[in-house]
Amino acid sequence: MDIVATDDGKRLREYLDKIGFAGELHSDVKELSKDRAVLLSTAKYPLKYDLQYFLNVAGQEPARLICYAENKGQKLYWPGNTQDESLDDSFYDGFYDAGIRFFPKGSSVEDRLNSIPTPEFKNENFHIRKKPALFLDRDGVVNEDTAYLHKIRDVRICAGVDKLIQFARRENWHVIILTNQSGVARGMFEADDVKTVNDFIMGSLLKLDAAVDAVYTCNFFDKGTISRWTKKSLMRKPWPGMLLSACHDFPIDIERSFMVGDKLVDAIKIERLCNIHLKGVYDLEGAGCPVFHDYDGIIDFFKKNQKGSTIYTP
Ligand SMILES: [Mg+2]
Repeated sequence: MDIVATDDGKRLREYLDKIGFAGELHSDVKELSKDRAVLLSTAKYPLKYDLQYFLNVAGQEPARLICYAENKGQKLYWPGNTQDESLDDSFYDGFYDAGIRFFPKGSSVEDRLNSIPTPEFKNENFHIRKKPALFLDRDGVVNEDTAYLHKIRDVRICAGVDKLIQFARRENWHVIILTNQSGVARGMFEADDVKTVNDFIMGSLLKLDAAVDAVYTCNFFDKGTISRWTKKSLMRKPWPGMLLSACHDFPIDIERSFMVGDKLVDAIKIERLCNIHLKGVYDLEGAGCPVFHDYDGIIDFFKKNQKGSTIYTP
């Protein structure tokens, strides 16, 4: 494996010597052969002891792009985007503050965004028992999809979703709603309207004994009309920004978690997450994951596909 240190080579070399890494260290990406893994290190972020983790991963998967970021005391690994001009830093909404990245030369934006690995969250301070999460799309899964819902008087909770949430609760899962709300970027309603509706939905579910831990919203949309919200964003499904945010806020085991949505874009692009669809009004032709017609079917699927618990250790 070859390594490039873009602007902090001396420190990186010292570190590599310390951990006994014998690979070549280059100062320019152009020096690398085409399909070898590359490590970039910037002076902006300090090297961490878990550089060894990156070396291990890169050694196993040399064509894999991985970057490194820190947030809220946890460490997050996911693919970066160092060579793409089509997507600037704003796409990443904070997740792009990466100090160390592996990437293959010549890989396309799509290739890389489509292979976002499950992040390894590490917490240096305490041991956590991570739990699965039931991630739910909002409109069409939790409440009836009335097209750009933004008034609480129009909220109608879907019959049967309370049973689905209660199942997750009994299993001691987190329950989290992830919702794209492009209506904000389109100028159809305000971010505050989304919050009001979200709060109302959470309250309504609570009354049904179906508590939700949190709602994450993406108001960004690249074809919007309101400049504040018009851009491509990692937060917008199918990209995993909202899910990653939830994983920062809650101890979630992505590998044992499920995402339920009623549109193809609800299938979140992150490895090892189990995406499933609830058939509603939208065409699900070409869905790459199981499709169900009611909540009971989903509950049965959960029962059959639950994975055993794991205990997290840093
Ligand atoms: Mg929906």
